[in-house]
Amino acid sequence: MRVKRIVLYFVSVFVLWSCGSFGSFKEEAEEFNIFPVSYDLQIGEKMAEEIASNPKKYPMLSPYRNVHLYAMVQAVVDSILQSTAIQHKKEFVWKVHLLKDDSIVNAFVTPGGYIYVYTGLLKSLEGEHQLAGVLAHEIAHADRRHATRQLTKVLGVDILLRVALSRLQKGAEWRSDVRKITEALIGLSFTRADEREADAKAVEYLCPTSYRADGIAEFFQKLYDQPQPPEFLSSHPHPKKRVKNVRALHKKLQCKGRQTYAERYNRLKALLPRP
Ligand SMILES: [Zn+2]
Repeated sequence: MRVKRIVLYFVSVFVLWSCGSFGSFKEEAEEFNIFPVSYDLQIGEKMAEEIASNPKKYPMLSPYRNVHLYAMVQAVVDSILQSTAIQHKKEFVWKVHLLKDDSIVNAFVTPGGYIYVYTGLLKSLEGEHQLAGVLAHEIAHADRRHATRQLTKVLGVDILLRVALSRLQKGAEWRSDVRKITEALIGLSFTRADEREADAKAVEYLCPTSYRADGIAEFFQKLYDQPQPPEFLSSHPHPKKRVKNVRALHKKLQCKGRQTYAERYNRLKALLPRP
């Protein structure tokens, strides 16, 4: 049943909206994470290996055949990483991978900062500032270590510890553990508090840059304004509130950046492989 649910999420859900809505922001933000930071990196590394080894499920765009495209997306990540508000800038990897599936408007990040972006998301965005907003949101999930905390709740602590600590163990059971947490990550429902924090951090990270720092709200609004918004948007209780919160914070922080780099983003889109 869980696998079925995860597959369903994987196919249809945009991760920024898919997230659950329980608990208060304050409680969640103060919740204790039992893992040392180094475990995030180790777990993320194993997940990245699993993703790379399963091209059928995770159809990676070759970084060697798409050097320019990768460089353009990575450059957006690198400009976000200039923010002094990112705590684990040096410890985590912050490396982008692109997944080729135009039907999936989604992005996700592993613990430790391996960032995955679907071509469906890149095609649906208008302007580099929107991509920056989505990437900053994902960076915040990793930097604030939301996934390890949430995966612990969903799967239990044992499996994460086994994966983090087993360096030499590569048996069938170990692989199945890694597969399980990777699949769980992609279908993961973050708490509403985690989502709010990632939205707010996205604005905070982008505020000192030349980007318009509320790009993520613009993208949310665009999805919401479609004649037939995705099912998960119409059923989500607070999509408009997230847009409102991001815009309010953008105003409060008096972010000066105005750039959308629309032309440059069009050049990026032109590099995407044809369907
Ligand atoms: Zn999110």
